[in-house]
Amino acid sequence: MSKTESHQFQAEIQQLLNIVIHSLYTDKEIFMRELISNAADACEKLRFNQTSGKAVYQPDVAPVIDVTTDEKEGTVTIRDTGVGMTHGELVENLGTIAHSGTKAFLRQIAGDSKPDLGLIGQFGVGFYSAFMVATRVTALSRSADPDQPGWSWTSEGMGGYELAPGGDLPRGTQITLKLKEDALEFSKEATVEGIIERYSSFIPFPIQLNGRRLNTVQAIWARNKNDIKEEEYNSFYTFVGHDHDQPLLRLHFTADAPLAIQALLFVPKRNFETMGMGRMDSEVNLYCRKILIQAKAKGLFPDWLRFLKGVVDSEDLPLNISRETMQDTTLMQKLNKVLTSRFLKFLDEHSEKDPASYETFYSEFQRYLKEGVVTDFTHQEALGRLLRYESSSLEAGKLTSLADYVKRMPAEQKEIYVLLAPNRAAAEANPYFEVFRARKWEVLFLSDPWDEFVVEHLRVFGGKTLRLAEKADLNLEDKPKGSLSEEAAKTLAGWLKQTLGDKVGEVRLSQRLVDSPAVIVDSDKHMTASMRRILKAMKQDSQEMAGAKHDLEINVAHPLMTQLEAMRQEDSALAASVAEQLLDNCKVAAGLLEDPRQMVSRLNQLLERVLAKK
Ligand code: ADP
Ligand code: MG
Repeated sequence: MSKTESHQFQAEIQQLLNIVIHSLYTDKEIFMRELISNAADACEKLRFNQTSGKAVYQPDVAPVIDVTTDEKEGTVTIRDTGVGMTHGELVENLGTIAHSGTKAFLRQIAGDSKPDLGLIGQFGVGFYSAFMVATRVTALSRSADPDQPGWSWTSEGMGGYELAPGGDLPRGTQITLKLKEDALEFSKEATVEGIIERYSSFIPFPIQLNGRRLNTVQAIWARNKNDIKEEEYNSFYTFVGHDHDQPLLRLHFTADAPLAIQALLFVPKRNFETMGMGRMDSEVNLYCRKILIQAKAKGLFPDWLRFLKGVVDSEDLPLNISRETMQDTTLMQKLNKVLTSRFLKFLDEHSEKDPASYETFYSEFQRYLKEGVVTDFTHQEALGRLLRYESSSLEAGKLTSLADYVKRMPAEQKEIYVLLAPNRAAAEANPYFEVFRARKWEVLFLSDPWDEFVVEHLRVFGGKTLRLAEKADLNLEDKPKGSLSEEAAKTLAGWLKQTLGDKVGEVRLSQRLVDSPAVIVDSDKHMTASMRRILKAMKQDSQEMAGAKHDLEINVAHPLMTQLEAMRQEDSALAASVAEQLLDNCKVAAGLLEDPRQMVSRLNQLLERVLAKK
C-alpha cells in the first residue's frame, strides 16, 4: 500500500499564491465561479474524449456538476463527473500555480488550430481562489483513464500539499472547502444559490445544489439560430430581461470580424421609463465563453440604447486573469461601435421588412433614437434613417421616413421642409404652411417637442438641409393679387412700421401668404423658438432677447389689409389698435405671445366698437 506523500510548493509559488488569495479578486464569492468553471471544463474534456472514441471509466455516468453545502461542518463541496486527474495531473495542475492543464489539453489536441470546444480555463490560477475562503482544500479525484486509481490531494495553502491514495472513487473530482471563520456564509444554500445563478447560469452541464437542479436556461445565444424555437427565445428573454411580457423585437447575431461576437438582444414591449420607473439601466450582460464578466455591462452600448436587454458574448475579450475587469477600454469602445451599428442596421432592415411592427417600436422608443441624434454624432446618419414623421402629402396618421420624403421631392426642391406644431390640425392651419400647400410641396409635420432639437442637430439628411417651414426662403408662384395698388401697399407697410415701432423689426409685403393676413418671421435665420425660450430662461428679464425683432410680413391681398388701409385714413386711432391686435394674433399663431392680458383688454374694446356699430 502506498502512503501519503508530502509535496512542497516552490518559494515563488508561495508568493503567487499570496497574491491570488489577497489581491487578485475583488470579491471572495468568485471562488465558486472558478471551481464550477473548472468542473465544467472537466465535463467538456470528458465529452470530447468520449466522442473521439477514447475508453472512459464509468462510461454510462453522464457529465454533471454537484454542489453541496454543509452549514454544520462549515464546508462546501463541488463535485463533477468529468475527466478527473491522475497522480501526475494532480501534481502538475494543482501543485503548480500558473499552469493551466486546460490550456495544455487544448494545445495537445489542436496543435495550432482552434477546435470548437467550450473550455473556460486558461490562466491556471482560478483553483487557488479557493484559499480566499478555505483553511483547507481537499480534492478527491479519479481520472477517466480506466487504468488509473483515485487520489486524495489536500492543502492548507501554506507550504505545500499532501497526496494519498484515494481508494475506489467514482470518476471525476470532488473538491471540499473547509471554510474560514469569516467565510461561513458560503456554507449556506441560499448564498451559494445566488452566486451560482449570477455567474454560472449558462454552464452547459447540469448543476445541482443539494440535489436540486439550478441551471435550466441554456446559453441559446451560442446556438445556431435555425435550431432555436420561439418559446426558447421567449423563456430566455423572461430570464435575462426579468420581464413577463414577450419581447417586441429580437436580434440574434454572430460576427467574426473585427471581433468574435455572439449577441442576443431584445427590445421590451414597453418603455419602462415612461411608466414612472425612473431612468433605466442597460440590461445587457457581458459574457466570455458563457461565464459572466459583467452584469449590466457599462459602456457596452451607448446610453441612448439603455432600453436593450440581453447578452453579448465575446471570446476575444482580453480579460485579466481575475476576469472582473477588462484591461482594454479601447476594445470596449470598439465593441460598442460594432454592436451599435449592427443594431441600427437591424432596425433599418426591420422597418423595411415589417413597417407596422417597426412603427409600434417607434411609437414606444422614438425618444431614445432622438436622444441619440442629439448626443451621438457617430451614429447620427444611421439614426436619421430611422426617424418617422407625418407629412402633408400623406393621410393623417401615416408616417414617412426622411429617405422616402427625399425620393418624392420635385427636382427644383432643394431642402427638406419641416413644420413644428403640436398636432396635424395645428400644422395645417399654420400660416407658414400656406405657401407649401399652394405650391404642393411636401412638408413634414413634427409634433414631438424633441423634434426641434433633432432638426438643430441632424441639420442635413441625404445631403439635403432640414429647413423649418418658417425659415424657408420660398415664394408663391403667382404674386397674390389684391385691390391695393403697389404704392398703397408700400404706404400701408410704412404706416404699420411707424405705428408698431420697436415691437417689430421690418414690415414687408409677403410672398408666401394665401389665407392669413399677416405672419411674423424671425429676423434671425438661425434662431428657433426653442432656442429663444432657452435664452429667455437663462436671461430672465431680457425682454429684447426673448420677444423682440420679429419682422412682420403682410398679405396685402387679404381683405383685412385692404380695409385697414382705408380705416387708417378715416380713424387712425382705431386702425392703430387693429394693427396692434394683428401683431398679437401673429404672435399667438407663432406660439410667441408672452402675456395675453393686454391683448384681451384691447380685443374687448374692439368688440365693443364692432357691436356699437350695429
Ligand atoms: P485554469 O482553469 O485557468 O486552467 P485553474 O487554476 O482553475 O486554472 O486550474 C488549474 C488546472 O487544474 C486546470 O487547467 C485543470 O487542468 C485542473 N483542474 C482543476 N479543477 C479540475 C477538475 N475539477 N477536474 C479536472 N481537472 C481540474
Ligand atoms: Mg479554472
